[in-house]
Amino acid sequence: MGHVLMAVSGPSGVGKGTLVKTIIKRRDDVVESVSCTTRAPRDGEVNGKHYFFLSHEEFQRRIDEDDFLEYDEHFGNYYGTPKSFVRETLKTKSVIMEIDVVGSLNAKKVFPECVLVMIAPPSLEELKRRLIGRNTETIEQIENRLARLEYELSHSEVYDHVIINDDFETALAEMSRILDEHAREE
Ligand code: 5GP
Repeated sequence: MGHVLMAVSGPSGVGKGTLVKTIIKRRDDVVESVSCTTRAPRDGEVNGKHYFFLSHEEFQRRIDEDDFLEYDEHFGNYYGTPKSFVRETLKTKSVIMEIDVVGSLNAKKVFPECVLVMIAPPSLEELKRRLIGRNTETIEQIENRLARLEYELSHSEVYDHVIINDDFETALAEMSRILDEHAREE
C-alpha cells in the first residue's frame, strides 16, 4: 500500500483537530505534518514537534528555494508546510495536514495527489451551539467564524471528500477508510 497526503480543513469548532489527533494516536502509519512558522514558540511548544520555528530570513530563504507546498501569513507571521518534511515522511507513512481552504487548494496545485477532506458540522445551528458551549470566543467572533464557514462550504465541490462530523466515531471511521482507499490507489 502507498502512503497518502491528506489535507483536512473545516470551520473552527467542527472537531477536526480532535479527529486528526485521534487518527494519529490510533494508527501508527499516519503522522501529522509539522509546519514552519516565524512566530515565537509558546510555553511548552517544542521545535520540530509543534512547529519548526524559523527566523524571518530563514523562512524567506526557504520561500526562495521553493521549499513550501503552501504558505500564508497570519497575524503578521508566516506559516508554511515544508515540502521536504512531507516528501521525506511520505516514504514511510501517510501525512495529514490541518490547513485552511486556501492552503489546501495551493497544496493540490503543487501536489495533485493530495486528498482534500472537508469536515462539516451537521448544521450551522449545531456548530453555533458547539462554539458557544466551548466558551472561548465572543459572540462577535462566533458570527465571524460562521460567516467564514459559508465561504468554506461554498468551496466544498473542490474537496475530494466531505465528512459530516455528527457522530465522532462514525466520522473517524470515515476518515480512516478514506486514507485506506487512497493508499490502495498509490
Ligand atoms: P497558531 O499561531 O495559533 O499556531 O496558528 C495560527 C494560524 O496559522 C492558524 O489558523 C493555523 O491554522 C495557521 N497555520 C498553521 N500552520 C500552517 C501552515 O502550514 N500553513 C498555513 N497556510 N496556515 C497554517
